[in-house]
Amino acid sequence: MQTTAADLSAIRARLAELERASATLEPDAKAREELRRPVVRYAEDFLERVDDAPAYRETEDAGRRVLELEIREEGRPLDELLDVVESDVDGTGLSPASGGHLGYIPGGGLYPSSLGDYLADVTNRYSGLFFPSPGAVRMENQLVRWMAEIIGYPEESRGDLTSGGSIASLTGIVTAREARGVHAREVERSAVYLTEQVHHCVAKALRIAGLGDAPIRTVPMDARYRMDAAELARLMGADRAAGIRPFLVVASAGTTDTGSVDPLGQIADVAAEHGAWLHVDAAYGGFFVLTDEVGDLLADLSRADSVVLDPHKGMFLPYGSGAVLVRDGAALQAAHYYRASYLRDVPEEQDWFSPADHSPELTRPFRGLRMWLPLQLFGVAPFRAALAEKLWLARYFHERVQEIGGMEVGPEPALSVALFRWVPPGGDDAVGGGGGEGRALPPPPPPPKP
Ligand SMILES: *Cc1c(COP(=O)(O)O)cnc(C)c1O
Repeated sequence: MQTTAADLSAIRARLAELERASATLEPDAKAREELRRPVVRYAEDFLERVDDAPAYRETEDAGRRVLELEIREEGRPLDELLDVVESDVDGTGLSPASGGHLGYIPGGGLYPSSLGDYLADVTNRYSGLFFPSPGAVRMENQLVRWMAEIIGYPEESRGDLTSGGSIASLTGIVTAREARGVHAREVERSAVYLTEQVHHCVAKALRIAGLGDAPIRTVPMDARYRMDAAELARLMGADRAAGIRPFLVVASAGTTDTGSVDPLGQIADVAAEHGAWLHVDAAYGGFFVLTDEVGDLLADLSRADSVVLDPHKGMFLPYGSGAVLVRDGAALQAAHYYRASYLRDVPEEQDWFSPADHSPELTRPFRGLRMWLPLQLFGVAPFRAALAEKLWLARYFHERVQEIGGMEVGPEPALSVALFRWVPPGGDDAVGGGGGEGRALPPPPPPPKP
């Protein structure tokens, strides 16, 4: 049946009506200004007060008023919304940017990153693939390359900017599984080696990656909570003798509880001898490689097959920035690459790579700008200084806390985590409040050489 002129004009009338009804979704310059001004003012008030703001605010209803504003058909005024954000989101719980927040894993909130996010959201560049946004992808490639360079990775390494360390770990572990050809039927005979101090996101990643039934070997640690490489070698030898393949070692460069760095070089030797993939979780500790005050503690990061870094920790970015780096970039691509009919072919010769080919994600936020902007604006130097400052703060604390009677300290901090506890005058109490054995901290090592 032919569409008549009358039908067409009815459609046009309906379109005009719908356009009017949805017009608020596209505010004009004046409306944008009216939205922006109170938000910027709110942010400035927040920043002015954040240094002295409590690190943690406990409120009676723990933000429950948020739920009073149910999502409804009609909108609400911005003031009312900012009010709720202030009282019931920013006014309750942890304030990682507060001057009083002494969490040992930093929660920064570098201001120019917020401007990077703002621009990335306003321009909405599509950073998953090269063709839609070559510049955005090159920017992310450059950041990956920079991180690869600081850990001493070769030219052929690649990586991805992720939402955080957990997804980066998953990506690294999936790459290991594919690169070592661990098929479902071999999982039960492919062993994974880690310590008690490994971050729990590794266990989660192993399970999600279909490796939940792999034999997990918990490698003993030394007095400084570091993986014992001789024990690792012994466990791997025993597994091989029993017909089990040593498949994956997960070492830590900065554990979450103690800041310990496993002996990466020794572990790399053992892993290489047994053909195992070495994944290093450097989510918290990796960026300390930027300071020259940790000696060669992190020098052997370059020997890992894959490494996880968290710019939202060590680069002080707001949450939402992790990174995975894989020494053999082709292995990362092989594990994640896919083609669809609507995606264009990639030329043989290219000096870029698409994030979507190196990650489980396709469409994703343009994460590069939030890291690129502060790095370009300030240069690397202030980041090195801020990281070194954190090391010295921990060392200073470690010395001074011993002056307080009854304090027992752990080892000299490897990075920015200092262990201490108070032992009551009557002697050690049991861990957990009574009955059992108290677990003593290891004795402090001799003082550091100047
Ligand atoms: C924070 C952390 C993780 C997890 O990273 P997310 O960014 O929180 O997902 C993994 N490993 C270590 C050592 C960490 O400190």
